[in-house]
Amino acid sequence: MFSLIDGKAIAQKTYAESKAAIADLKARGVIPGLAVVLIGDDPASRAYVRSKDKMCLELGMHSVKHELPADTTQATVIDLVRKLNADPAIHGILVQSPPPPHIDERFIVETIDPRKDVDGFHPLNVAKLTLGDPDGFVPCTPLGCQRLLIESGIETAGANVVVLGRSMIVGKPMALLLMNKGQGGDATVTVAHSRTRNLAEVCRGADILIAAIGKPEFVRADFVKDGAVVIDVGINRVEDAAHPKGYKLVGDVAFAEVAPKCRAITPVPGGVGPMTIAMLMANTVASAKRTRG
Ligand code: NAP
Repeated sequence: MFSLIDGKAIAQKTYAESKAAIADLKARGVIPGLAVVLIGDDPASRAYVRSKDKMCLELGMHSVKHELPADTTQATVIDLVRKLNADPAIHGILVQSPPPPHIDERFIVETIDPRKDVDGFHPLNVAKLTLGDPDGFVPCTPLGCQRLLIESGIETAGANVVVLGRSMIVGKPMALLLMNKGQGGDATVTVAHSRTRNLAEVCRGADILIAAIGKPEFVRADFVKDGAVVIDVGINRVEDAAHPKGYKLVGDVAFAEVAPKCRAITPVPGGVGPMTIAMLMANTVASAKRTRG
C-alpha cells in the first residue's frame, strides 16, 4: 500500500514557521515585503500572481502587485525592477514567467538584486546553489520537492534519484539540491531528458523518481520500480467534459497505474503545487531576516 505525500499539509507546516518568523521580524519593526511584476494578461499567470498576493496578506506580509500591459517596453520593466531593488520595504522581487516575447527575460532576471531574487534564478544564486553555499536563494519548486521528501522521512543520502527534466526552473536545481551535501541531499543523481536513451529503463533504476517534463501522464508503470518514491512536478491541463471548467489537471505521472507500485507518491493537484508558493513565502521571509538592521 502506498502512502500519499500531502503537499497541502506540509505547506501548512511551513506557513506556521513563516508566521512565527514574521511575528519575530515585526517585533523588530520589519515587515517582509514581496513585489510581483506581471506583464500581459495570461490567465494562468494572473491566477498565480493573485494567489501569491493572497498568501502574503494571509501571512501578514507586505505585498505589492505591478500588473503591466502586454505592450510594456523592456526599459519600463527594467526601470521598475531597479526601483524595487532600491525600495527598503521590498525583500523579494519576482517577475512572473513567461513575459511577452519582446521582453528579454534573462536580462530582467539579471537586473534583480540577487539579495531580493526570491525565485533563485539570478546567476549569482544559481552559482551559490552549485557551490553548495546556503546564503543564496534556491528556486521554489525544487526546494519544495526537497522539503516534501524531508518531511515525509524519505532518506535521500545514498539513494539513486532520477530527475526527469533539465529545466533551469525545476530539473537542474533539483539535481543540484539532491547531490549537495546535507539533509535532503547526498543522493546519487541521474538527470534524464528528451535525448536520454532507454528512458523507462533509466527511470526504473530510481529509488526516488522526480518527474518534471510537462507531458500529461507520461510516466507509466514500466518507468517505476516496486517500492520507489515518486514526486510528480507536472501540472498539465487536459480536456475533461465532465468537469465544469471543461478541463482537469493531471501530472506528468499516470497516477492510477503508478501509485500501486510506489512506497510513496505525490498527488496532482495537492502535492508539489502547494509547496511552490509556500517556499516563495519562506524565501521572502529569509530575505527580510538577512536585510534586517
Ligand atoms: P520545461 O522547461 O518545458 O522542461 C521540460 C523538460 O522535460 C526538458 O528538460 C525536456 O528535455 C524534458 N522532456 C520533455 N519531453 C520529454 C520526453 N518526451 N522525454 C524525456 N524528457 C522530456 O518544463 P518545466 O518548466 O521544467 O516544467 C515541467 C513541468 O512541471 C510542467 O508540467 C510544469 O507545468 C510543471 N511545473 C510545476 C510547478 C509547480 O509549482 N508544481 C512549477 C514549475 C513547473 P529537453 O531539455 O531535452 O528538451
